[in-house]
Amino acid sequence: MIDVLDMKITLAQRSKLQDISLDHLPFGKYFSDHMLEADYENGEWKNVEIKPYQPLLLEPSLAALHYGQAIFEGIKAYRDQQGNAAIFRPLDNFKRFNISAERMQMPAVPEEIFMEGMRQLIKIDQDWIPAIADHSLYIRPFMFSSDHVIGVKPSESYKFMIILSPTGPYYIAPMRIYVEEKFVRAAPGGVGYAKAAGNYGAAMYATAHAKKQGYDQVLWTDAFEHKYAQEIGTMNVFFIIGNTAVTPDLSSGTILAGITRDSAITMLREAGLTVEERPISMDEVSAAYDAGKLTEVFGTGTAATVSLIKELKFKEKIMFFDTNNTPVSSGLKKNMADIKEGKLPDTHGWLYKI
Ligand SMILES: *Cc1c(COP(=O)(O)O)cnc(C)c1O
Repeated sequence: MIDVLDMKITLAQRSKLQDISLDHLPFGKYFSDHMLEADYENGEWKNVEIKPYQPLLLEPSLAALHYGQAIFEGIKAYRDQQGNAAIFRPLDNFKRFNISAERMQMPAVPEEIFMEGMRQLIKIDQDWIPAIADHSLYIRPFMFSSDHVIGVKPSESYKFMIILSPTGPYYIAPMRIYVEEKFVRAAPGGVGYAKAAGNYGAAMYATAHAKKQGYDQVLWTDAFEHKYAQEIGTMNVFFIIGNTAVTPDLSSGTILAGITRDSAITMLREAGLTVEERPISMDEVSAAYDAGKLTEVFGTGTAATVSLIKELKFKEKIMFFDTNNTPVSSGLKKNMADIKEGKLPDTHGWLYKI
């Protein structure tokens, strides 16, 4: 066990906060004054350090750049109406991080480094959490292999880091979605359930292909038959059919177990909907649309929370949705924001106080 009190802390001489306005921030472009860094060497974690945000000095032979042992997480910290800061469900991200690490043959990061390191880092940079509605501090923990050896094998050394980026309202206009039936994001037995860097690089070609045709994102289908819905870009997907919300189940290991997905399932049930986690084919989606029962389709994820879908292109057919009339997804989005900002009680213990 690492004694986190041993953590070395070096403070920045001057805050960059004076140079920028936390209003109107583009996503992921500005970083706070400090970062956390830790090294895994000779079978143990060491050199846990918080220091001014700065470049890394790495050799061209860095294993992660060649063979892709690299994973990440995405978390958000909010400020409530009283000005108190809290992180949304970070323990769930910590657990998922180590599930990704195991799949990529990387060492687990101890809870003290991940959680206490994150808490202390945010405490130091707490002025970077915007006190503006719909704004937050995006937390990016990540780990990569750091051997300077280009043999194809698991690295012996790794670096774990956390950086922080203040973000404005991640408003995305209702999206036009292309149901992908050629390219594949994940197959059973693969790494779809891990937040592994390569999954995102591998998805860019198909996404660019959909964009060329005027769509914002792809809805991935299963690798074998291209029949069952999986997820939308980097968001989990929900279909509202009558009084039931259907979302693909996680058993095939091809879908990222979103924490927003999990929160949405809980909140939709509380709102009186039936929630079904099961395989859902695009033929079923299409038939429900024709029958007038499919009223809303939306994506869930930390970045945007809930994203409305206005068009779904499946083969030659385009399904249209009235995004001015989305009681389920809009209600969910509002209630989630209200819990995070302390306007609704946190009955599930989702907020982690800093
Ligand atoms: C991160 C991610 C999600 C959403 O997960 P959250 O925990 O809700 O942010 C969904 N799908 C993919 C592929 C992702 O990478």
